[in-house]
Amino acid sequence: MSLGNLRDLYQQVILERYKTPRHRGTTNPVHRRQRGHNPSCGDTIELTVQLNQAGDRIVDVKFEGEGCAISMASADLMAEALQGKTIEEALEMVKRFQGMMKGEEEFPKEHRKLNVMQGVAQFPVRIKCANLSWHALKAALESHNTDSVDFVSNETEQE
Ligand code: ZN
Repeated sequence: MSLGNLRDLYQQVILERYKTPRHRGTTNPVHRRQRGHNPSCGDTIELTVQLNQAGDRIVDVKFEGEGCAISMASADLMAEALQGKTIEEALEMVKRFQGMMKGEEEFPKEHRKLNVMQGVAQFPVRIKCANLSWHALKAALESHNTDSVDFVSNETEQE
């Protein structure tokens, strides 16, 4: 497969996720709620997380929001990859995703679907779009508020 075709394939996955997301909505119950905003593109997201009884493992993640195809597809792929992950594993994935956006890392086979976002690293203005949901996730998992409505902005994330 040529690089051109590979890029088309990634675009297809991103557009498909944008048009028919699988993880839109609100978890029931809501254990963590986090809004995120990406002023440079206008993307907004509201992430909800359902945890297990011990509070150390993700049962479900859903998102609501408005934004470009990259931000919405990234949120949908993220929500899917997080099902059943421990908080610790999820935070590792945040780091890996951010590393991938710098062109430094990629996900192992188990999460290779997330690698479709790898192409975004070539477009610096879109990196914040792809990172938005992961940024909100990190804030959601690190806060101990059950129902935080604070906005996180990723505007200060990169120099
Ligand atoms: Zn965007």
